[in-house]
Amino acid sequence: MKELLTIAIDGPAGAGKSTIAKRLAKEYEIVYVDTGAMYRSVALYMLEHQIDLDKEKAVVDALNHVDIRIVYKDEVQHIYLNEEDVTQKIRQQSVGEGASKVSAYLPVRKKMVMMQQEMAKKTSMVMDGRDIGTHVLTDAKVKIFLSADVMIRAKRRYNELLEKGESADLNAIAEEISERDYRDMNRDHAPLVQAKDAQLLDTSNMSIDDVVCAIKKIIEMR
Ligand code: C5P
Repeated sequence: MKELLTIAIDGPAGAGKSTIAKRLAKEYEIVYVDTGAMYRSVALYMLEHQIDLDKEKAVVDALNHVDIRIVYKDEVQHIYLNEEDVTQKIRQQSVGEGASKVSAYLPVRKKMVMMQQEMAKKTSMVMDGRDIGTHVLTDAKVKIFLSADVMIRAKRRYNELLEKGESADLNAIAEEISERDYRDMNRDHAPLVQAKDAQLLDTSNMSIDDVVCAIKKIIEMR
């Protein structure tokens, strides 16, 4: 059987993980799995059912009613929450913040990680998140930790929103990113940390092409 190619990409919010992962998926003709979308879907369920995200028991009790499915349409990941396609809905900032709260609870993580590991058994993929190299795909062929200065990450988000015609406040975005990073790096279970065998890429002064090129070199050296 042909060896599977698994690429794990971790890093803080707005480091460019999904942009880079999508490019790599195309280059190597493999699947891209955005694990943040899974935590966002859990948060969306809780928000839509008025469940207090700060109450672990309430979130964990409701978890049984959360069914998440990933489907690919024209090579694009669509995420279904209880049969509803929530791919767009989960992109709201409030859902991202919520995801960073519910993802701190161990039963939530266990449910998501089990699904992610199951997916990776069958097919080559590039998966991005916060704990992919450290917990989900510990045997990944290539592990990358993408980072960038917080103001640069905020500026990228800010520009994305302006391009979409939405209004944005750069300082508010920087603050939201910093808070989310802090929560993700300081939680008890699977905090965001660079895996020992991950290659660190600081993308502050790199273009998307530069980053893709650097990762391709790392992959080809393995
Ligand atoms: O990557 P994205 O910004 O969509 O992730 C939303 C939140 O989900 C993160 O801030 C983090 O708290 C959580 N997450 C996680 N583990 C992952 C992916 C995302 O805890 N593998």
